[in-house]
Amino acid sequence: MADPEVVRDLDLSVDDLADPDVRSVVIRHEHPEFEDALQDDVDEIDLGYGQINPRLHLAMHEIVATQLWEGDPPEVWETAARLRDAGYERHEIFHMLGRPVSNQIWAGWQDRKPYDRARHVADLRALPGSWERERSTMSATNRHEVARKQARRSARATRRRNRRPK
Ligand SMILES: [Zn+2]
Repeated sequence: MADPEVVRDLDLSVDDLADPDVRSVVIRHEHPEFEDALQDDVDEIDLGYGQINPRLHLAMHEIVATQLWEGDPPEVWETAARLRDAGYERHEIFHMLGRPVSNQIWAGWQDRKPYDRARHVADLRALPGSWERERSTMSATNRHEVARKQARRSARATRRRNRRPK
C-alpha cells in the first residue's frame, strides 16, 4: 500500500503502517516536492499541473490509506486492485481513489450533506473513465490558461511599445 522504497528508507516494516501516525509520516515522505511549501505554511502551490493545496492533498492520501487499511468501504480496495490490474501506477491510484473522497468532502461542506455511501461507491465504479475524462479537460484548461497568459503578456508588450515616444 505504501511506497516500499519509502518504507525501507524510513526503516519501517509493513506492520508499522497499522499506525495512522506512521502512515502520515510515510505519505509526507512520498511528497518531497511539498516540503518547502509545508515548512513555509504556503496554502497553494503550482507544480506545473494546476494549483494544489499540499496539506489537503496529504489529508486526502491519509483518508484513502485508512480506507484501504481498514477495508471500509470494501469497494475502495476492490477499485484499487482493479486499477492496478489495468496498469495504473500506485501513487496515481491513490489520487484516483481520492477524487470520490474530495467529492464527499465537498458535498458535506458546500451542500451540508452527510456521507453518501451509494455516491461514494458509484464514484469508485466510474473509475478510471471519470479520471481520464477529467485529466483531458484539465490539460485542455491548462493549455488554455497558458495561451491566455501568453496573449496577455504580448498585449502588454505591444501597449508598452506603442506608448514609447517616436
Ligand atoms: Zn500524492
